Amino acid sequence: MATVMSKIQPWFEVGLGLFYPEVCQLCSAERASAREGLVGPQCWSQVRFIRPPFCNRCGLPYQGDLTTTFECANCRELKLHFSSARSAVVAKTVVLEVIHRFKYSRARWFEPFLADLLRREAVPVLRDKGWDFIVPVPLHPLKEREREFNQAEVLAWHLSEAAGIPLNTKILRRVAATATQTKLTREQRAANMGGAFALCSGASPVEKRIVLLDDVFTTGATTNACAKVLRAAGAAEVCVWTVARGL
Ligand SMILES: [Zn+2]
Ligand SMILES: [Zn+2]
Repeated sequence: MATVMSKIQPWFEVGLGLFYPEVCQLCSAERASAREGLVGPQCWSQVRFIRPPFCNRCGLPYQGDLTTTFECANCRELKLHFSSARSAVVAKTVVLEVIHRFKYSRARWFEPFLADLLRREAVPVLRDKGWDFIVPVPLHPLKEREREFNQAEVLAWHLSEAAGIPLNTKILRRVAATATQTKLTREQRAANMGGAFALCSGASPVEKRIVLLDDVFTTGATTNACAKVLRAAGAAEVCVWTVARGL
């Protein structure tokens, strides 16, 4: 059985990079290096970073020239257990394709590209701010075996290295293998996630400030369910970071 460390080693250091041609894996029409995740400059230019104004709570970008901080209508209706959620980029075009292939088709060569997007945006915000741990959203063990890796854990490892915040995969566990959420409404997603997560035995997040990490934030049902468990167990604060934000 693979150890935790070997699972979260960057793929190019495992040597897979040697077998791929230096061609953009999205358009096949431009050069791209393995260290950049085999995404070429033309495709890279389609990435949309999330810039203010956005909802202070959930990070939802807002069209217009709002200068004051605000909370969107959604956040006023929901019981949120995290202090804030932020994402690096919009989950559209190339980013959406990369995340799908990374997650469901084991396209591990995109890892440096996704890690780079996350690091650029999250490291300046998180570094030296007293966060105790980065906790990736766990996969159910059955799903992890099938997928061979937890995409959130891999990305959390990169962020942990770059931001100097310890990675902790021994706090939270997934107890229910939930059905895919893509066809569910916001309410159904929240119900689907209730009871999906629990503390690991012996884990204590008391007084800890935790950065919860996932690949995509859509309605926030998943990260909110995780944050609820951590806060109920005494965590002082939980903030959420994801690479991409579904809009
Ligand atoms: Zn390309
Ligand atoms: Zn909001």
